[in-house]
Amino acid sequence: MLSIIKPLIVNITILFSFTFNANLFLPFQRNVHLSIKQKAIYGLISAFGATLCMAYPIETLGETNFDLRMVAIIVVTLYAGWLPGLFTVIVVSAIRIIIGGAFLHIGVIVSIIAFAIALLFRKRFQLSNDKILIASFISFTYFIIYFSIIYFSVTFLELTFYIVYFIAFYITYIATIYIIEALTKFNKQFDEMVYMDKLTTTGQMAASIAHEIRNPITTVRGFIQFIQQDTTDEKLKEFSPLILDELDRTNMIITNYLKLAKPEKFELTSVDIDKLLSDSIDLLRPLGTFSNVTLNYEGRENCYVKGDAQHIKQSLINIIKNAIESIHGNGIVKANLYVDKQRKIAKIIIKDTGKGMTQEELKQIGLPFYTTKTKGTGLGSMITNRLIREIGGTIEYESELGKGTTVTVTLQIE
Ligand code: ADP
Ligand code: MG
Repeated sequence: MLSIIKPLIVNITILFSFTFNANLFLPFQRNVHLSIKQKAIYGLISAFGATLCMAYPIETLGETNFDLRMVAIIVVTLYAGWLPGLFTVIVVSAIRIIIGGAFLHIGVIVSIIAFAIALLFRKRFQLSNDKILIASFISFTYFIIYFSIIYFSVTFLELTFYIVYFIAFYITYIATIYIIEALTKFNKQFDEMVYMDKLTTTGQMAASIAHEIRNPITTVRGFIQFIQQDTTDEKLKEFSPLILDELDRTNMIITNYLKLAKPEKFELTSVDIDKLLSDSIDLLRPLGTFSNVTLNYEGRENCYVKGDAQHIKQSLINIIKNAIESIHGNGIVKANLYVDKQRKIAKIIIKDTGKGMTQEELKQIGLPFYTTKTKGTGLGSMITNRLIREIGGTIEYESELGKGTTVTVTLQIE
């Protein structure tokens, strides 16, 4: 028995350290579309980890090799998709063939089965809130198939061996998933911290400058309005509305800056989110029609959330406006409301068929002054994020270049 403990510990150490290293190269994040390059990196890391596991197998009577490479195959398939999973299976199988031995074909077959099962349950796993439960189900399914195959082909092994092997397998596998989940959460909190820090700095900066600029602008605006009234100068007559417009725009930008610095007071009340969402959609429908964008909301859920109605509305308008502005030509902006009574949350999902964003752009959204529009301020998303956070909600962006963007706002229900 002691002889199997040592390789087991080596296997476990390899898998854990590779998990941490993968996070170092590419910090784990939820709900992001991995690029081919990122998938390749995850594939390489898991294939390397699995190979190392194979180098330290648990040998039984010098005839069969057991190791925990299946953990790498299943986990990488579940989290990173079929490409890295398949890559790992191919590498592992190739090495298995090179090693050779009596039970070569079985070694290859069980690797493929591990991959296939992980792939089959991947969607379920990704969407589930109880990942450990689904992960356990996957490992039990795999083990029943695995055990049946081994039982009939490798007749000389005892039941106790399988039990010890499975327990070690299960614990390592669940621990790996647990580590990935914990790192994902940590990465998110870290990003949030950096973001909040930037917000505070910008806010203070904005406040000090904005006040100084606002006063002269008001004076200039007043004079232009005054001169315009009884002037005979044709040019001044023609261009003064334009000047006033631009001044108003400048003033609006400054008002927005000040909002960042000194958030308005808000009241937590019970808000009819369904009504608020359809009101916001109706409000922006003319803008949509003007840009050939159909706005669509069919939620109709009866639901009250905790928050400040004015703030939530402002946030929804910012999000829907961005969605409309992302569409060039015809397109659809679809809003949905999902209520999860058990978890006491409401999810507002706003999906557009616009230009989408790259991973790099996605990271910048919500940062002060980040905009890709000629007349943009780069403040809308920042204000939205702040307003939603203030009432204890969260906001998430998912996007694919050329396909569109999905924004999910999660709020607590009453
Ligand atoms: P603004 O709208 O003034 O540019 P925002 O903070 O609202 O400022 O948005 C910042 C940037 O994020 C936008 O310029 C745009 O590039 C990007 N963005 C926001 N929402 C979307 C979306 N739904 N689809 C594509 N890009 C978006
Ligand atoms: Mg905007």
